[in-house]
Amino acid sequence: MILVLAPDLPATHRNRIRRRLESQSFGVVYVSGGDYPYLEVSGEIPALHSLKPQYWPGVIAAVPVSTLHPHVADRTGEAAAAVAVSAGDLALGRPNFQFIAGPCALEEPDRTLSLATRVRDAGVKLFRGGAFKPRSSPYAFQGLGKVGLELLAQVRSELGLRVVTEVLDVRDLEAVAEIADVLQVGSRNMYNTGLLSELGRLRQPVLLKRGFAATLDEFLSAAETVVLGGNDQLILCERGVRSGVDRHGVVLDLGVVADLRRRTPFPVYVDPSHGAAVSPRVAPLARAAVAAGCDGLLIEVHDAPELALSDGQQAIEPDEFTRLVGEIERIRRALEGARE
Ligand code: PEP
Ligand code: MN
Repeated sequence: MILVLAPDLPATHRNRIRRRLESQSFGVVYVSGGDYPYLEVSGEIPALHSLKPQYWPGVIAAVPVSTLHPHVADRTGEAAAAVAVSAGDLALGRPNFQFIAGPCALEEPDRTLSLATRVRDAGVKLFRGGAFKPRSSPYAFQGLGKVGLELLAQVRSELGLRVVTEVLDVRDLEAVAEIADVLQVGSRNMYNTGLLSELGRLRQPVLLKRGFAATLDEFLSAAETVVLGGNDQLILCERGVRSGVDRHGVVLDLGVVADLRRRTPFPVYVDPSHGAAVSPRVAPLARAAVAAGCDGLLIEVHDAPELALSDGQQAIEPDEFTRLVGEIERIRRALEGARE
């Protein structure tokens, strides 16, 4: 990292900065002669970055010249090669585009099984459904809990689908990991470093959603927490960010898809359902996400959205979903042709 110093900084002050850095085992080289003197600092730069040295008195800029997320971003050589994420025999990374589809929350068994059959018939291999729901209101339906996990196990064994579900709390991790082929970390939990560290100890795929107000840097730091623990089976998922400008309070950030694809080796998924907030916007945003280069889509589907216990307003119905799957396939083929 380069710490650019104020031109008139007294040597005593500069030495104080140097001593602070050296006491924390950073290497420091002082360079002068140009318009600005600077310190070249070596060592564990992500740790130094977290100390925000750009705000220290006497420092006018701190420029990292190495990656701040060494396990997940801006890697070079072999480390930058696409990571193969697999749920059993199902490959989830490039070039294997996948849909994750199903209701927001698991509900009655019959409804869940018939919906799972509909999405399977549309070609989906990964069924989603929340057993533990992170609802903003304590009065809202909180999910079926362990009963929901049993239902997912039934979907898995009877229909041959892989299942994706959210783990909300470290106390449920073992139970969720036993059933889920992919463990989802929701937007609200992206900052839950205790949970992320525990997921790092698993060797199962984790779908990490971006916090709805998280910067790219914070999202990558959350990803780093999982991978640092040894679990590189990671999928990154953009799901929309809070915006007071939009009528529905959320904007799907497709620019971040390009950033993530350029900077990380992990599959990048998009959730146009939470990013849309209302169902008429889901299919257009899904098409745009594919054009922006995502590796998969997570879409909420419900056979009777008006009866849904969670997020019915953004659920699309199975017929519309089936049409969308066909459209996405055609868009992907067209994109391949366009890139030739
Ligand atoms: C969900 O997938 O149903 C969900 C709660 O998503 P998010 O964490 O993105 O709000
Ligand atoms: Mn939902």
